[in-house]
Amino acid sequence: MALLEIKHCDKSYVPEQPILKNISVAIEAETVTCILGPSGAGKSTLLRCINQLEVPSSGEIIYKGENTLAPNYNLRNLREEIGMVFQSFNLFPLKNVLNNIVLPLRLVKKMSLSEAREVAMAMLEKVGLSAKANAYPDNLSGGQKQRVAIARSLALNPKIMLFDEPTSALDPELVGDVLEVMQELAEEGKTMVIVTHEMGFAREVSDRILFMLDGEIIEDNDPETFFTNP
Ligand code: ADP
Ligand code: ADP
Repeated sequence: MALLEIKHCDKSYVPEQPILKNISVAIEAETVTCILGPSGAGKSTLLRCINQLEVPSSGEIIYKGENTLAPNYNLRNLREEIGMVFQSFNLFPLKNVLNNIVLPLRLVKKMSLSEAREVAMAMLEKVGLSAKANAYPDNLSGGQKQRVAIARSLALNPKIMLFDEPTSALDPELVGDVLEVMQELAEEGKTMVIVTHEMGFAREVSDRILFMLDGEIIEDNDPETFFTNP
């Protein structure tokens, strides 16, 4: 059984204007899926439907065998197990880097302060930012902010990590550091679904490419086939 299964999902924000059209796709554990396609294709909407930042208009999203759209489904559980990293980082500006990671560990995982600090430091080390623990987000580069955002998401040990154009807001010279962290996660077997325009990353790191156009997945292939087929 796939870890996550999207079945016949439609999404409209406005009646009669479908943004997702009968999307069906299954995501296996420990795979990296890149979603490519032009702006407006519905990539971000699909990602946000997976953790229900948006609710699909119809269809089913099955996670670990349960339909997450059922009225009695525990959404809290879903949001704990499916992490998301945004283009715009979404760090808490009034908290230093360490506390950006400590806070959700305390709230979501109910960790003690000392335990949360220990985990947060380990995550910062993983993304190469131990030295910035006491800095505030405003004093970091975009690439550093995004690595903090990844560390924060990762700290909660999600089963799936969703990335919505994680490098699109970055100056070109900062993109590599973020992609490197993501590549390490991929190599460790993290299940990831990534909306990106980074073709080199998609080709080298992903197991699978979904190409979206106008609310539909029009190609679903391994990267070698995707990038070499006419
Ligand atoms: P992509 O990520 O491929 O660029 P999006 O999913 O962001 O595509 O957007 C697909 C379409 O849905 C766009 O036309 C966008 O304007 C529209 N859209 C996205 N979010 C909303 C929203 N909250 N309300 C209305 N329309 C939206
Ligand atoms: P991204 O490129 O990261 O997907 P967008 O600029 O498409 O970001 O969307 C940013 C926010 O604005 C999202 O929350 C999305 O739902 C909302 N949004 C996008 N398009 C529209 C729209 N046409 N009407 C209303 N909200 C929209």
